[in-house]
Amino acid sequence: MASIHSRARIALLPLLLPAILVAQEFDHGYIDPAPILAAASAAIGEESLSCISISGSAYSGMVGQQYINAYEVDWPRGEPLRNYTRIIDFENVRMMETFDRDPGNNPASWKYGLGWYGGTPTQQEERQVFSLNGQYAWHQDGTDGEPIAARPLDAERWQLDIWLTPHGFLKAARLPGANPVATWRWELGEMGRDGATVNPEKVTIVSITVMDKYRVDATINSENLLQRIHTWVPDSVIGDTNYEHEFSNADYINIGDGVRFPTNWHHHTGWDDNYQAQSINAGHNAFGGRQADIVANECPGEVAVPANVRNADFFENVVVETLADGVFLYGGGSHNSVVVEFEDYIAVVEAPLYESRNLAVIDEIVERIPDKPIRFVINTHQHHDHVGGLRTYMHIGATIITHWKNYDFYTNDVLTYSQRTLDPDMVSLWPPTELAEGYQYETVRENYVLTDGNRIMQMSYVHPSPHVEGMLVAYLPEEKILIEADLFDAITNDLPEEASRENRTLYNHVQRLGLDVETIVPIHGQPTPWEDFEELIN
Ligand SMILES: [Zn+2]
Ligand SMILES: [Zn+2]
Repeated sequence: MASIHSRARIALLPLLLPAILVAQEFDHGYIDPAPILAAASAAIGEESLSCISISGSAYSGMVGQQYINAYEVDWPRGEPLRNYTRIIDFENVRMMETFDRDPGNNPASWKYGLGWYGGTPTQQEERQVFSLNGQYAWHQDGTDGEPIAARPLDAERWQLDIWLTPHGFLKAARLPGANPVATWRWELGEMGRDGATVNPEKVTIVSITVMDKYRVDATINSENLLQRIHTWVPDSVIGDTNYEHEFSNADYINIGDGVRFPTNWHHHTGWDDNYQAQSINAGHNAFGGRQADIVANECPGEVAVPANVRNADFFENVVVETLADGVFLYGGGSHNSVVVEFEDYIAVVEAPLYESRNLAVIDEIVERIPDKPIRFVINTHQHHDHVGGLRTYMHIGATIITHWKNYDFYTNDVLTYSQRTLDPDMVSLWPPTELAEGYQYETVRENYVLTDGNRIMQMSYVHPSPHVEGMLVAYLPEEKILIEADLFDAITNDLPEEASRENRTLYNHVQRLGLDVETIVPIHGQPTPWEDFEELIN
């Protein structure tokens, strides 16, 4: 009996073993990534490509510079990027991007997509150069322009653009720490960038870790082509943000040596949410274009990191200037905040840029005016570079005064409990219970007044405004000070030669409300006498 029993066991083992191994190696829902990656690599000749050069033309999307958030489903289109080129060296992690764009209208440090920091020097030359070498990235205004370091999170995002190409993704999947995992799904509907040849199509998704931090995934279709490469990037306004490139099968062209590379870049920053089903601020198209001229294995060469880029420290410089008794300008950077002291509390006009800027300003306020709560933060408008610190002020217990048209966007997309994993801020790390109670806003329709019986600050709605919907300015009648953002900038000592439509908007607003203004205090630049401004208008 015993011998029959053991023989039966032996006979069964070879049949059972593969099934047991598969069950142990991959959890339910997961499959082996190795053959998927190998097939994709063979399909596009990944191993034969060490560098790529592409050129053509492109468009730019101005992420966070929307006119009105609700009912507007895309980022405003920036100016066209002419004579666009990009050269990538995958092995040495180097990239150079160049294009021509009309000078004068864009922050010099801004490529396209995220990273629009208004109030910084504007682009002066037509040719723009953006370089990357490993963790360092920099910009030059003109081919011989002085290199200006990109902030570390911008540099990381630029580097991601190397790994979010088909060949880059497959190379990144082999790097130490990538730890590829794979799953599958039947894809219906839009199917990435129209990658499907059958409907519905079974696709696989391979997910890897890049730079020890970013989870990047590629959707690979039945022809083994990467049709969507996707990740999340940090943003101080909307948190972990959808970031993806999409390619269609027809985009892949043969460029020799068995290498196939897509001619079209289609990129989303933010969800591709045309019906605003998931978010209020549903902008998405942030970059794209046709780069039909593609050369395999043309490398960018040295791309040496300039010393000033290597040593850039991004220190938050806060310079305080007294404007009147109890009214202070907190400057020293590209965006000011204005601090107004009342009997029992402090109000701050503007929480711009990102959290580190606002923490530096708040520390300085606490140092000078200890033990008085910062009860209110006044938000001029919804452009992302003027909103990035609202969560920081909520964290310290301030109520946000904003125009009511910004409310849905802020409650749904900005001041939420959603986890921020890539660049956690104070609210994300220590979510306060008040966030769920909904008392953190005072929404303004026409006018709103803060007073302690002595000092008065009056907020008013600027309408119509060509710059943005939902714009507020703050006025101190006793001090004859008007605080405003983006309607008049005084970054240089010289007044502009001609009044802009924004300047005229501000002038008309002051006339209509009959405000008695002596000094304009801009969020961008230096306080300016009203007389000088009036000269510009007339
Ligand atoms: Zn601005
Ligand atoms: Zn603005």
